[in-house]
Amino acid sequence: MSERTLAIIKPDAVKKQAIGDIINRYEKAGLKPVAMKLMQMSMPVAEGFYAVHKARPFFGSLCGFMSSGPCVVLVLQGENAIKKNRELMGATDPAKAEADTIRKAHGANIEFNAVHGSDSPETAAFEIGYFFPGMEIFG
Ligand code: ADP
Ligand code: MG
Repeated sequence: MSERTLAIIKPDAVKKQAIGDIINRYEKAGLKPVAMKLMQMSMPVAEGFYAVHKARPFFGSLCGFMSSGPCVVLVLQGENAIKKNRELMGATDPAKAEADTIRKAHGANIEFNAVHGSDSPETAAFEIGYFFPGMEIFG
């Protein structure tokens, strides 16, 4: 089933000039960017995006990181896009990420881990709507 997922190339990966490598991995896996922008989140925007993690001890640090510089926000479309992107990303902790994953290649640690990907159809719908109005998605 063709579906959509929200991906973010986080500020650490943008600083490392890994945008091209990461988008290449999406495209090679059949995930088509149907919306994309370079943007810098404010602290409140990052806090709203990660609201589900509000109670976690790393919440403040995570939102500080995500607003520390520009990131690339994309909507990816393809067969099983949510699961496929999670597989491309690898485990949250790059030290535990499988070979040939984005986090293995570009992540530094469990916080600075290069990319975000929606984890369910419900979060994908929320996350896509958080950053893109329908008229900016070219499916
Ligand atoms: P994922 O991004 O793999 O879905 P989570 O949703 O659990 O992982 O966490 C969201 C983000 O919060 C992670 O990608 C990472 O940047 C950060 N994070 C997760 N766990 C920790 C932790 N224990 N310490 C610091 N940062 C964390
Ligand atoms: Mg998550």
